[in-house]
Parts: sequence; C-alpha cells; structure tokens
Amino acid sequence: MAKTVHTTCAYCGVGCGITAEVRNPELHLVDIQGNENHPANFGRLCSKGSALGETVSLENRLLTPVVDGEKVNWNKALDEVVSRLHRTIKQYGPDSVALYGSGQLLTEDYYVANKLMKGFIGSANIDTNSRLCMASTVAGHKRAFGSDTVPNCYEDLELCDLLVLVGSNTAWCHPVLFQRIRAAKQQQPAMKVVVIDPRKTDTCDIADLHLSIKSGTDVALFAGLLLDLSVRGVMDADYVGQHTTGLQSALKAAEDSVGSVRLVAELCGLKSTDVETFYQWFARTDKTVTAWSQGVNQSVSGTDKVNAILNCHLLTGRIGQPGSGPLSLTGQPNAMGGREVGGLANQLAAHMDFSDMDDIDRVRRFWKAANMAEKPGRTAVDLFRSIEKGDIKFIWIMGTNPLVSMPDASQCIAALAQCPTVVVSDCIEKTDTSAYADILLPAAGWSEKDGTVTNSERRISRQKALFPMSGDARPDWWIISQVAARLGFSEAFDYSGASQIFCEHAALSGFENNDSCKRRGFDISALACLTESDYDQLEPVQWPVSDSQLSSPSGRKRLFTDGIFFTEDRRARFIPTRFEWQSNQTDSHYPLLLNTGRIRDHWHTMTRTGLSARLSQHIDEPFIEVHPEDAERFSLKEQSFCRVSSAFGTAVLKVRLTTGNRQGTVFAPMHWNRSNSRSGAIGSLVNPLTDPFSRQPDFKHTPVKLEPC
Ligand code: SF4
Repeated sequence: MAKTVHTTCAYCGVGCGITAEVRNPELHLVDIQGNENHPANFGRLCSKGSALGETVSLENRLLTPVVDGEKVNWNKALDEVVSRLHRTIKQYGPDSVALYGSGQLLTEDYYVANKLMKGFIGSANIDTNSRLCMASTVAGHKRAFGSDTVPNCYEDLELCDLLVLVGSNTAWCHPVLFQRIRAAKQQQPAMKVVVIDPRKTDTCDIADLHLSIKSGTDVALFAGLLLDLSVRGVMDADYVGQHTTGLQSALKAAEDSVGSVRLVAELCGLKSTDVETFYQWFARTDKTVTAWSQGVNQSVSGTDKVNAILNCHLLTGRIGQPGSGPLSLTGQPNAMGGREVGGLANQLAAHMDFSDMDDIDRVRRFWKAANMAEKPGRTAVDLFRSIEKGDIKFIWIMGTNPLVSMPDASQCIAALAQCPTVVVSDCIEKTDTSAYADILLPAAGWSEKDGTVTNSERRISRQKALFPMSGDARPDWWIISQVAARLGFSEAFDYSGASQIFCEHAALSGFENNDSCKRRGFDISALACLTESDYDQLEPVQWPVSDSQLSSPSGRKRLFTDGIFFTEDRRARFIPTRFEWQSNQTDSHYPLLLNTGRIRDHWHTMTRTGLSARLSQHIDEPFIEVHPEDAERFSLKEQSFCRVSSAFGTAVLKVRLTTGNRQGTVFAPMHWNRSNSRSGAIGSLVNPLTDPFSRQPDFKHTPVKLEPC
C-alpha cells in the first residue's frame, strides 16, 4: 500500500512542499506532487521538483565507505578519518584542518558539523558553497540591520504594486515564485514589474520595463535612485529620523559617484528615459518590493549592491510592510538554515558572531566546548588557496562538488591533488571532486534523510525520508558524530536522531537571548522541547518563534514592522556606497565579459538532475550565448563550436546566437563538468576575485576571448 509523506523539495531556496506517494520503497518508486497546504508553493512545483521521483534510483550512488580505493566497513573508515585528523592536528594545529559544506545539507547536519569544528576541533575553518550563493546578502543585512534578517516574505511578491527584480532570472531559478508573481500580475494588471539584468531572460516575459544594465553597475543605479528619491521629496522623514542613522553620508557618497540621472544612464549603459521611468515608478509606489538573487550577490561589489538597494527602502520607510520591502532570494534549499547554525567561517551558531567575545563565550558555555575557536576561519576561495599553499593539510568536503562549482576550479584541482588527506562524504559516487578523495563516506540522499531546511522567507520545513537508507549510507549528522565520539567528544555528540539535534539548535537560539542581547533576530526557542512526534509533525513555520510569539504559531511573516532593528541603538544604518568600475575589465586579449548562471531544468553540477531524461530534454548540452554582432566579429556561427578562454582556463562550447545578451557579453551555464561533458567545467574560467566584505566570488564578470574551433 502506498505511503504518503509530506516533505520539501531538494533544490532551490523557494523551499516548496512536496507530497510524495511512496509506491515501492525497495524499488524507490514514488509519485511526486506539490503539497497544496505548504505556504511556499500551495501545490505548485516546477519541472525540477516534479521530476524528483526520477532522480532517486541507485545509479551512481556511493553505498560503501572507501579508503585509499578499497571498500571498507564503517569502523575502518571512521578510524582512518580520525587517525588522519588527529595526526594532522597534533603535528600542525587545528587550523591545518578544514571542512567545506553545502547548502544542500540539512540544518541538523550543518549544526553538528559546525559544533565539531568550532567548538571541539578549535578552528573556524568551516565554510560552505553558500559562500558562493548569498554571503553578500548576509553581509549587507548585517551592515544595515545589525543582523542577517530577511524582513519580508513571499506573500509580498503578490501584494506589491511594483516589483523590482534585480539580477534574478526568477522564471528559471525560482520558478514557483515566478508562477506566483505571474498569477498575481494577471489578477492585478496595474502591478508593474521591472527586471534589472544584463540579459533578456524568460523573466522579462512579465516585465513592464527591462533595464539591460551593464555588468557590475548596480551600485550606480541604486545610488542614483537614492539621490532621486531624496530630491523628489518622497523620503519618509519621520521614519528616517526615528529609525535610521547615516543618511547624509550615504547621500554624499551617492552624489560623489553618480550625480545625475544622465550620468547614471551613461554608467549603466541604459537610456536616460528608462532610468527616469524606473525612478518615477519607485518614487510614487508605496507598495514596492525589491527582490534580488545571484546577479547582485555574486560580485566583487555584492555587499555594496545589497546596501545600495536597502538604502532606498530605508529612505522610503518601506521595510517589513505588507507588499513593501526588500527580499533576497537564496539559491540553495538550505542556504538559510546554514546561516542559522553559523555555516559560514565568520559566523557562530544561532546568528552569533566571532566579532563579539560575549557571543563566543556564550556558545562555548552552551556547548561545554572543549576547544572553542575564537577567530573567523578561511572563506571558500581563501580556503582552497590555503590547501594549495600547504597551510591546510586535511579537508573534509560534504555534499558538494567544488572542483566544478568553485571559481578558478583548476586551482582547486591542484589544491586537492596535493592535499595530504581529502575526505569526501556524499551520496554520489563519481564526481569531479570524489576522484581526488582518499576517503569516501556514503551519505544518505534526499529521499533517505530526516531533518529541516529553511527557505528564503525564513520558513523552516521538515524534510523526511521516503525510503530506508541504501547500502551503508548514513545521515551526515551521524557520520560527524561518530568522528566526534572517536576524537573523545562522545558526550557532546551523543545524538539519537535529528529531532534531538534540532531541539539543541533551537535551545541555543534562545540561550541568554533576552532583552540585553537582543541583537540576534534569530530565535526559535519555542521549538526547543519538541517531542519526537511533535518534530515529525512540525508544520512549516517562519522564524522567529520564541515563547513571546507563540500567539502566532505559524511564526512571523515580517520583521522590523515597528522600525526597531538589531543594532546597538536599534536604528537601521544607511551605508555609503560609492560606484567604482571593477578592476578586471575587458582588454584586447580578453575582449568579452563572461556571465555564468543556471538553466531552467538542471541543478548545480547535475549529479541528480542529470539522472532524469525528461529534464535533459529542455537543454541537453553546454552552450555559450553570443550576441550576433560579437559572433560576426569573432567568426562564429550558430551551433558551431568555439574555444572560450580566460586568464584562468579554457572550455569548448557550442555557440547559440541571441540578441538577449548585451553586445560584448556572453553567457554560459554552470552545470556541466568534466564527468558529464567534454567541454570542461565553466568554473575553471571564472576569476576568483571576491567581494571585500562578504568574500563571495564574482561569477558574473570574467573577461574572456572566443575562437572558432
Ligand atoms: Fe523545487 Fe525550487 Fe522548483 Fe520549488 S521552485 S519545486 S523548491 S526547484
């Protein structure tokens, strides 16, 4: 008899609820539908989510631990991990080891990994592929609000009268949100949508105005908007006076760098009339939402871009109101959960921070930590550089494929090739990264795991197992806890299941989180005493969920509705953002700019979506989009092959001609890799430059050249 399981999609940050009808657990037969009661999607699913049932076979599954190429049992594999870990720490100290995780991990896995590294190994060298996804938003939120807090929610995308989508191909990357927006616009035709993106994507199908902005100039556009709003007199003076600081410096910085609409248009490569129209619409529309994604975050000025946007919302007092406010759309299913547990190397659990000694001490005491890290660790790009330099000698990679997804991926290959110990835990056996592993640990896959994820609107949802675990696969939290126990920390890692870890995580969020240290917006302490059955039946809930908020059991839709923020003086900060041309511009050697991103039906490095023939029907091979005039200039034809080279690497891709790209820019998808194509991973071309505040790499702006081949 079929069993019904309510779970959450494995892919993007929308976090859609799924109703799975398990027909045969042994054969992994399952029918997938959208969960009509889940507040993220109300029954909708996109192509990727609805094909999940086609990706749960045992094809290419890692089912047994492997040490130095030999299949072994768990005892032997864990003993090997611990012996090499122990040896490395003893000889070179705790900062010689590192862990690189993933926004695909469940919150419980993420929490335990951070606890082991930061509380017991004594190093914060734990970063994650979420660094490539939303670190700039985290840094921007913290600068403006004093906390990494998303003020608004998905419903606001439907309630607004003006939606500004910046650097987001929502139609392909957050498809269910796009469906919700399109339905709202059909119901309310007066609603306007502005799309700000160098590419004309499918998202532009619903745009009333598309600003095909020059790559990397968003700060100029929003600094210009800040000035324009202040000149037009639409500033909410009461709000600014009572709830913010720093406006004059922000205006001065904007004035210094952009000055006039005409100059903004020139810098951004736009028509003055289009910039004027955008500014007018923003000025006269109270119910405005600005939503953004990787086009903002993945940039050397990503944090400034975020703050330039937030400045405009602060000036107009449009924060945390129904249909009005800023909303970051995270890429991965649990990038937000990672933020909650301190998944980034510069953060501590429960939104605490290494910059505050009280926070470090608080976490130390809560964990009864044997060896608490006291300073931030290395962030993704820096971490792989440190491996190559020999400073890090033991790396444990969990649930991610950095040799494809990292910028300057060839450098990462060189790093792993010479690292004395590489441990990879994954549900997939053969990836570009696992080829360099000394030790492979079989992790449970999406259909076998139990835990929680948090989506872009702060909504925590349960992810549940559909089938028993395959082969020797085990949950990531179990693998980490076993290693911790063998290192002598069994008491602190004596977990019987995911619910126990979730309750500890929830308890830490409330630990000493009272009025005197209210800077942490994250508080789910009301969920700290869930029984196994409560946890099993936990309904999707938006944090914060503390005792004082139990009157709204489904959590808080919006924050900062009262204009009180988590800074010391409870006021939001305007951040001065100055537009500057970034250093890595095109030249005679590399005359075109490479932009990278997702396509509609594939996910990350295709280890799962590549298993579905249906998903490959949309686009079945890697390609590069080229403007026809650029193609003529470089003697390229539609469907011909070309060699794409940057200062960092080369790939061979099939040409697709399109006028949807700005002339002088090309676009290639991120998904294909050495294992599934002959083209080479696109990450190997991408420059490893990072934002100075967030250390997020810039995947949107690499000078390249194209040659026929
Ligand atoms: Fe999954 Fe995202 Fe599609 Fe929803 S929109 S079904 S979360 S991939």
